[in-house]
Amino acid sequence: MTTSTTSTNSEALGSTDPEIADLIAREERRESAKIRLIPSENYVSRAVLAATGSILTNKYSEGYAGKRYYEGQQFIDPIETLAVDRARKLFGADHANVQPYSGSPANLAVYLAFCQPGDTVMGLGLPMGGHLTHGWNVSISGKYFKAVQYGVDPVHHLIDLDQVRSLAREHRPKVIWAGGTAYPRLWDWESFAAIAREVGARFVADMAHIAGLIAGGAHPSPVPFADVVTTTTHKTLRGPRGGMILCKDEFKSAIDKAIFPGLQGGPHNHTTAGIAVALREAAEPGFKDYAHQVVKNARAMADELASRGFRVISGGTDNHLVLIDLTAKGIGGKPAAKAMDRAGLEANYNTVPFDPRKPFDPSGVRLGTPAMTSRGMKETEARKVAAWIDQAVQAAGDDAKLDNIAAEVAELCKGFPAPGIDC
Ligand SMILES: *Cc1c(COP(=O)(O)O)cnc(C)c1O
Repeated sequence: MTTSTTSTNSEALGSTDPEIADLIAREERRESAKIRLIPSENYVSRAVLAATGSILTNKYSEGYAGKRYYEGQQFIDPIETLAVDRARKLFGADHANVQPYSGSPANLAVYLAFCQPGDTVMGLGLPMGGHLTHGWNVSISGKYFKAVQYGVDPVHHLIDLDQVRSLAREHRPKVIWAGGTAYPRLWDWESFAAIAREVGARFVADMAHIAGLIAGGAHPSPVPFADVVTTTTHKTLRGPRGGMILCKDEFKSAIDKAIFPGLQGGPHNHTTAGIAVALREAAEPGFKDYAHQVVKNARAMADELASRGFRVISGGTDNHLVLIDLTAKGIGGKPAAKAMDRAGLEANYNTVPFDPRKPFDPSGVRLGTPAMTSRGMKETEARKVAAWIDQAVQAAGDDAKLDNIAAEVAELCKGFPAPGIDC
């Protein structure tokens, strides 16, 4: 055995497990023929795929570079060190831990580092665009801690900093989270830091959705202001599924201990290598163009949707994400997202702030431009997508019409090959 190429690997999979091989091939075609508008998804490069699918999955390496609990780390240590150094440099952070298995474990490690069960913590409420791990009641973060949740203002749908400040003064949380999953506007990191300082809380910024925009200079960075910054690596940052924690030197030891041995065992070295490659790609000049184009595309899409009578939450977007309320179109978010998916436009239904409907059948659909922008699509295509969304929503229930749209979508997609995909 001297070679190990993608084709020999996929041939091996095809002969060992044709069922899984077939399902992967079908998923690959699906990702290629649809316009993927889920804002937390993307396409990784072939280089990231190669690292992630590598033999590094074979190796155990509990501990950190130079301090491992297993022998044979001659090549793992430099891989992890490269990932750490690239993360520190890209984001200007004192320290980086690249071992979290994903975004949720990264956030859990923050609680382990700074809180005791029963302590008070504070974050943006899930129905307002926050994340489960910021204190929502069904998550461990809401079960093990006393969670206080702030929201957005009812008129402009912007983070209500006055509310954040008064809740922080009243409840004195140990940790204040900023960051979300359905918030289309800029985060005022500096004001959060000031509020946290005033009440003696740790300020943690969760940049999972926008890490790539921050790396590319299309969104202000929380790193100068936050005690700790957590992120996923697979959203706008365009790496493999994983997580990272950046922090000031002061918190290095608490964060590292919380990840290992506090929460996890051996790091996923194949993922670490994929993260290192993605960080190298994100440091290249072309990634700046990518990040800015993601925002331009989201703005064009929001603008076109608004001109077609969709209610765009907060009136537009500053980032990669557009949240629309379909009430005025006479359809719920769930049937709208279903119709769109049939039409080749993959999105997810979502609550809108102050949603009168239930979370499993909310009023909104969440859209994002990171994946389509990775295919090279620009404002023209973003407006085209908005027009298709409009048609699909009107054609909900008429499968023939939706299939016609899907055929047009697939035709456009042929002109914009997806990174890492052959078909
Ligand atoms: C995606 C996300 C997470 C969780 O990441 P997983 O990898 O799905 O565990 C945490 N916080 C925010 C803000 C996110 O968007």
